[in-house]
Amino acid sequence: MSSHHTPDDLTPATRLVTSGRRPEWTGTGDHPSAVVSPAVWRASTHLYPDMATLRAGHSQNADGNFYYGRRGAPTQWALAEALTEIEPGAAGTVLYPSGVAAIAGVLLAVLKPGDVLLMTDNAYEPSRTLARGMLADMGVDTRWFDPTDLVSFEAAICNRTRAVLLESPGSLTMEVQDVPAIAALCRARGIVSILDNTWASSLGFAALPHGIDITLMALTKHVGGHSDLMMGSAAAGAEWYDRLRRHSQMLGTVVSPDDAALALRGLRTMGLRLARETESANRIAEWLEGRAEVARVLCPMRPGCVGHDLWLRDFTGGCGLFSFVFRGGSSAGRDAFIDALTLFGIGFSWGGFESLATPLDPARVRTASAWPLPGMDAADVFGVRLTIGLEDAGDLIADMTQAFAVWAAHA
Ligand SMILES: *Cc1c(COP(=O)(O)O)cnc(C)c1O
Repeated sequence: MSSHHTPDDLTPATRLVTSGRRPEWTGTGDHPSAVVSPAVWRASTHLYPDMATLRAGHSQNADGNFYYGRRGAPTQWALAEALTEIEPGAAGTVLYPSGVAAIAGVLLAVLKPGDVLLMTDNAYEPSRTLARGMLADMGVDTRWFDPTDLVSFEAAICNRTRAVLLESPGSLTMEVQDVPAIAALCRARGIVSILDNTWASSLGFAALPHGIDITLMALTKHVGGHSDLMMGSAAAGAEWYDRLRRHSQMLGTVVSPDDAALALRGLRTMGLRLARETESANRIAEWLEGRAEVARVLCPMRPGCVGHDLWLRDFTGGCGLFSFVFRGGSSAGRDAFIDALTLFGIGFSWGGFESLATPLDPARVRTASAWPLPGMDAADVFGVRLTIGLEDAGDLIADMTQAFAVWAAHA
């Protein structure tokens, strides 16, 4: 590879392999590109050959310029560059020590006291906690809106509205939003549109070409892919990228080179993992739709999901995270179902190679939209969120079959 930049005409699948591998990060001056992946550069101090270089270092604040550990070193730069190369329209990517740190870092870079933030009602719960806590303390008002209702979204805009935080599909209930329409409404009014794109990643939804100003991901999920690291990212065009970068440096947010190397390793196989998880999730969701115990399957790839038509229109891929709701039953029956599963771990997070199951209780967090969803029976409230991993889908179906028998014994 003579140039470090991946040519524009390469597909995302190829970019996942070629990106972020500058010869100077994978080799030495005598032997560029000596190894495939960048080494783990553990560094606080960067050394300068002379005083003139030290002086120049101050002014060149960009990935690729040695200065000091807080601005990263080749391992973090390689990861950020790789993420930028698979994010159409991005000028750069800022890394954060977790997905929540990315959400907080972006919102703090955008909002100031007196501003109003509009947040989708199906947002990740810690995003709500941040709004109710730290953002409220600094004088930012957050208002929640029904993710499926463009009319009430537009009505919620006021002259103090500075930003909107979208998540599509939303956490837990998986409604797909009309992101291009909301982003266009925002752009026309000078409102900053921010998307938590963790579910689809840039492979499944190209946020910036759909009108979003800042797109963020919990790299903890699909990019890490092995449930062994926490990290987040935010990508944007030049103007917002520069601001996010300066803000993250002011806040002192850095990621460790060891974690960056793990994330880079995960990124190489992300496309394969997502394709496999999507295929299995589709098969399992379809099977669940045919079960008498199941009232509703909330999977963006399936027609029963709110906004499935938008998913078909806007997305280029899916993943293994979706939910389903029992027909009636009880909280204890749901617990018994989850306890009976042998191939699904009980635990938070998702996007790893292994399947997980957690209870789904959206009523606890929603304030601006209904649960159960319109058209659902009032008795159908107990749900499960599934993460489909890389196991054989048939084995996972067999495991759930025996767990449904345990659930039925509780009814
Ligand atoms: C997990 C998650 C996050 C936060 O990521 P962490 O790395 O766990 O902080 C943010 N958004 C969504 C949608 C998530 O699922």
